[in-house]
Amino acid sequence: MTARVLVVDDIVANVKLLEARLSAEYFDVVTASNGIDALEICAGGQCDIVLLDVMMPGLDGFEVCRRIKHNPLTAHLPVIIITALDQPSDRIKGLDAGADDFLTKPINELALITRVKSLVRLKALTDQLILRASAAADLGIDEPLDGAIVSGEGGRILLVDDSASTRSRLVEALESRHQVDVEPDPQEAHFRLADVSYDLVVVSLDLVGFDGLRLCSQIRSIERTRMLPVLAIVHPDDTRRLERGLELGINDYLVHPIDRDELQARVRTQIRRHRFTERLRETLHATMEMAITDGLTGLHNRRYLERHLAGMFDQSVARRKPLSVLMLDVDFFKAVNDTYGHDAGDDVLREFARRVRRTVRNVDLVCRLGGEEFVVAMPDTDSPIASIIGERVRQRISGQSFLIEGGEQSISVTVSIGLASRRDDGTDSPEAMLRRADEALYRSKREGRNRVSSAVA
Ligand code: GH3
Ligand code: MG
Ligand code: MG
Repeated sequence: MTARVLVVDDIVANVKLLEARLSAEYFDVVTASNGIDALEICAGGQCDIVLLDVMMPGLDGFEVCRRIKHNPLTAHLPVIIITALDQPSDRIKGLDAGADDFLTKPINELALITRVKSLVRLKALTDQLILRASAAADLGIDEPLDGAIVSGEGGRILLVDDSASTRSRLVEALESRHQVDVEPDPQEAHFRLADVSYDLVVVSLDLVGFDGLRLCSQIRSIERTRMLPVLAIVHPDDTRRLERGLELGINDYLVHPIDRDELQARVRTQIRRHRFTERLRETLHATMEMAITDGLTGLHNRRYLERHLAGMFDQSVARRKPLSVLMLDVDFFKAVNDTYGHDAGDDVLREFARRVRRTVRNVDLVCRLGGEEFVVAMPDTDSPIASIIGERVRQRISGQSFLIEGGEQSISVTVSIGLASRRDDGTDSPEAMLRRADEALYRSKREGRNRVSSAVA
């Protein structure tokens, strides 16, 4: 994943060094030597992430960070601040200013690349979420844009560590903001992950008698936990294991001795990222549902019918099974609207859809083509059976009056139906079937309505 990284530092040598390292990883690098220029680049949308030195003349890094996070145009840009190792209080100041992560000088190359990659992924997700939210707003779907900024607090965390002292320190640092479950046994942890929906797993890579990397690999290999963020804890000299972990897909890491602020910041970032992903997936699902569903009746729409009927048709050919379709059109529906109003007409359509849906099997596909026209596609159903079903639908509509205006009034409704079944001569198609059903429907209309007609085979 490539991204544009803005490096801000007043010392040219520092800028050059970071630029070289990031370019070697195929990031595009933009540079600034002071806060004012940096803010301009951010506001112009010319970068995806900011690496910000704390000590600069004029606006210092904290102030630049604060301004980035306070401007709605740039608030979603991830900011990594770079502090001196001997100034631990700077980290807290940085987090207070809204920084997403921090690095200390001298900068460790693996740390730099891991942090930047992790935050770039987060940014890519945020961008998509914002795009979707504004598309949804354009379509008039209620999806407020400010909902796009997701909190990284109040997460459910599973901590896997068999060292009691590390465990208690981690729990103590996290429990005020999150719900933390502790599991010393990695096998048990694996089972728990399958049962409970966590936002994050923190895994120690130096468990006694168990390879923590194996658990990381298990987490990545099963469907339920594939997207779950993993934060690893390693010893500073265990670079090889850390590199293996990063290859296996751990998202971030901390080294012993664990810094409390750093732990909290990394946990928060990972939880936010996970929640973004979940939200995106839900939105995508809802969008897909919406694209194939008729809003008034909840039935599938014409678009879905076109796709799905083609599949049903091919399957019936392959399995040498029959397939039938019913085309339905409410009789004199315009008169319902004209007499009782459009809302009453909608009530009738909803009830009509419900009755049809209840009259046929679950495997039968019921769609609203538009207006007061519906289609039922029935697999494994030949023409004589389809005609019985058609007749049953007709009776369910005409046999009992429809309530409108909240039950104040009732009106009788009838339906005309046309039936067509798949021809087995190798020349038939879904479109041709629907055409024949439509012709049969017109015959029903011509011959007096409230009846079922079959297409000539
Ligand atoms: P026929 O027996 O020949 O089918 O007559 P009809 O009145 O049912 O047919 P026509 O096609 O002339 O009228 C259909 C009416 O359906 C016209 C249109 O305003 C109405 N309609 C289409 N969509 C909707 C809808 O979503 N809600 C309501 N209430 N009415 C709709
Ligand atoms: Mg009609
Ligand atoms: Mg019509």
